[in-house]
This record gives sequence, C-alpha cells and structure tokens, in this order.
Amino acid sequence: IYTNLIRLEDDPTRVIGIVTLLEDVTEIRKLEKMRSDFVANVSHELKTPLTSISGFVETLKSDAIDDEETKMRFLDIIDIETERLSRLIDDILSLSEIESTTNNIRQEIYTTEAINEVIEIIKPIANDKEIVINTEIEGSLPQIYGNRDWFKQMLINLLDNAIKYTPQGGKVYINAYKKYKNVVIVVRDTGLGIPKNELPRLFERFYRVDKARSKKLGGTGLGLAIVKHIVIAFNGRIKVNSEVGKGTEFTVIIPIK
Ligand code: ADP
Repeated sequence: IYTNLIRLEDDPTRVIGIVTLLEDVTEIRKLEKMRSDFVANVSHELKTPLTSISGFVETLKSDAIDDEETKMRFLDIIDIETERLSRLIDDILSLSEIESTTNNIRQEIYTTEAINEVIEIIKPIANDKEIVINTEIEGSLPQIYGNRDWFKQMLINLLDNAIKYTPQGGKVYINAYKKYKNVVIVVRDTGLGIPKNELPRLFERFYRVDKARSKKLGGTGLGLAIVKHIVIAFNGRIKVNSEVGKGTEFTVIIPIK
C-alpha cells in the first residue's frame, strides 16, 4: 500500500486530500518465489553429482582401494556423473534461453521435413531398445513459423521420453496432421504411463514421477519444462493423456499463422 497526503500549495500545513494506491503483489510474489525455488533446486541438482564426483576422486586419491575392478567402477561412476552434470547445465541454459525468448526468431519451418529429420535422429536410440517408431506424417503439412531448432528440440524431448519410459520391445507412435488452422503432432507410447494425480505437475522444472527411475535413465527433470516453454513460444498448446501400465500420449497443437 502506498499513501500520500495532498497539501495546499500556498499553505503546506493544510491537507486537502489523500491518495492511496493499492497494488496487488500476489503475482509478483509468486514469480519471486518460483525464481528462488528454481535457484534452490538448481543448486541442489548441481551439487548432487559434484559431491559424488569429489567423493570418488578423494577415495581414489587416498590409495585406499587397491583392486583394479573397484577402481574402474569408481571411474565409471565419475564418468556417468560428469555427463549428468553436463546434461544438466545444457538443459538449464536451454531453458533460460527459451524462457527469455531472446532467440524467439520467426523462421519458416517446413513441418513435414522437420518432423522427419527428428525421427531420423531419434531412430538409433529406439533401435537400441528394440522399439519400433510408427510414423503417420501428412505429406504436405503447412509451414509454421518460429525457431527451427526449438521446434526440433521439442519433438526430440517428447520422443526421447517416449523411448525412455517404454520397456524394451515397446512401440512409439508419431502422428502429424493439419486440423483447422493448426498443425497437430501426437507422440504416443506403450510405456509405463503416468498416474492421473501426477499429470498437473508434469511440466514443472525438476518434477519427476519417480526420481530414482528418471536418474537411472539419465533424466534431468527439465525435458518437459523445456517442451512447455517452446510450445508457448510457438503460441501453441500441449495436452497429455496417460494410463498407468498402458502408455502416454502428448498432443502438441501449433497455429499455422
Ligand atoms: P526427465 O528428465 O526425468 O525425463 P522430463 O521433464 O522430461 O524429465 O519428464 C518429467 C517426468 O515425467 C519424468 O521423470 C517421467 O516421470 C515423466 N514422463 C515424461 N514422459 C513420459 C512418458 N512418455 N511416459 C511416462 N512417463 C513420462
């Protein structure tokens, strides 16, 4: 609340009015809280692998381990944690870039080609898990406009998750078509699924349904937050449907103009 007394110009001792300004700071406070929560989360997420790395390095340096096998195992852990740290930093930087919208350029995107390029990139990862990617992409989808790299990143994250959270031998579907004045892209899998009560928080930074599982699979917990912000940059919408044990379906709707 801001209050000020209005005084008479000739005689400042005489008050002739009061101005009171009320400002609703709920939103500002909420944003501040989100920001400080994010910084706390980032610090925690970065510190975990660092602590592990420095712990194993110290142990190796202390000469306490003499069998080669254990040494190799420790080095492997250091390797894995270093990669994790690097992925985390990449994701944090991507998210901050997308959020600040500085690179929200308007490139012409040939939708069909872009989707097919992403499928080619992701195929080897699916092959490793003997997962078949079924595609149904309309041949001449209309162009959309925005940052081409972001558009591809969004699809990579969705497909990567679909593969990550689908057991060996499962199926992933990607379907793209034009509907009214939108391009609709559906990524579906026959994987683990997500409990209904988890769905509302799914796109939050660092939110994972099963933290241990996500970590084991190399997740950073930022993939879907990145997807959400890219969809926003494209003025689009994203929906998710899921059933535990059956699979998950993400639908992205992007306006053509
Ligand atoms: P992560 O790096 O953990 O995969 P994301 O932000 O990409 O982080 O996803 C958040 C969480 O949502 C994941 O930890 C996982 O629990 C869940 N999730 C995302 N995609 C799928 C999917 N296709 N099937 C099942 N669970 C999923």
